[in-house]
Amino acid sequence: MPFRTLARAQIPTVTNVNMLSVAAACRPSEHGVTGNSWLDPRTGTLAYMEDAELAWRRPSWEGRFAVLTVKAKLLGLLGAHAWRSAAAECPPQDLVEAVGPAPPVYSAESSLWVLEAALHVLEAWRPDLLFVATTDFVFHMHDPAAPEARHFVEALDEAIGRLSRLIARLGVTADHGMGAKTRRVDLEAALARAGVEGRVVPVIRDRYTRHHENLGGAAYVHGWEALEAIRGLHGVDQVWTPADAAFGLDLPEDRLGDGLVLAQPHVVFGAGGPSVALRSHGSAHEAEVPFFLSAPPAETARAAGPVANRDLIPWLLGLP
Ligand SMILES: [Zn+2]
Repeated sequence: MPFRTLARAQIPTVTNVNMLSVAAACRPSEHGVTGNSWLDPRTGTLAYMEDAELAWRRPSWEGRFAVLTVKAKLLGLLGAHAWRSAAAECPPQDLVEAVGPAPPVYSAESSLWVLEAALHVLEAWRPDLLFVATTDFVFHMHDPAAPEARHFVEALDEAIGRLSRLIARLGVTADHGMGAKTRRVDLEAALARAGVEGRVVPVIRDRYTRHHENLGGAAYVHGWEALEAIRGLHGVDQVWTPADAAFGLDLPEDRLGDGLVLAQPHVVFGAGGPSVALRSHGSAHEAEVPFFLSAPPAETARAAGPVANRDLIPWLLGLP
């Protein structure tokens, strides 16, 4: 592609925060979604942050805006204002007839299916703007150098190449990066040992636990004493108060509990022993993502600051 660079993802580097930032072209402080999960203040319970009502801003592009995703969980956040939308997890009959039965979510093929569906949708639905979300399953499971990951990237590349021959403008970016994790820090156990009360919310937690076992590099902490106790723990990289996170990370101050904790590069937060072997994300160390456009952006757009994944659609459409 003619324009390629590295871009910044929003922190915490999880799907719901970033998919909404990319699809609606705004910061989390504007759309309000701070994780895959949160401690819902309306009920006091741990809940998935995927209801459309939780998002202050959702993608609402002019014309026929269509959304295709692998995971059904994203349809609430991304598809609510779309002209048409579909997910491989619960595919509509017209797509099954055109592309074949959708493979399971926990597969490489589900992402390739959704790209095949995109090829069909471009001609059958004729959208003005089509947003396609694949999944990170393969990269949770395999190192980028492993044959499985390389084959997947080749297949993605081939599918994106076919799409690029059908449409005038195309952009590609990611919701977050991925890293190898070898150490687990059990924040709740550390608080219990210190005799400090507090609750820890795993930001990555979603319905698709085979991807990451809910182990990621970011957590919201409820209880300011707990936040202070966590500050000095080994494996903890950054501790943000809500006011600091609002200023420094563009997060909505009133949806962060008493603060955000980010892990060191090889560390995930969660219950259990200290040694792990998995690939995951969530921390500040998975915030660098690829960014490709079929045509270079305007000079004025580039001059506005570092490239962010949320710039993709405005730059694609030539918006200021
Ligand atoms: Zn993931």
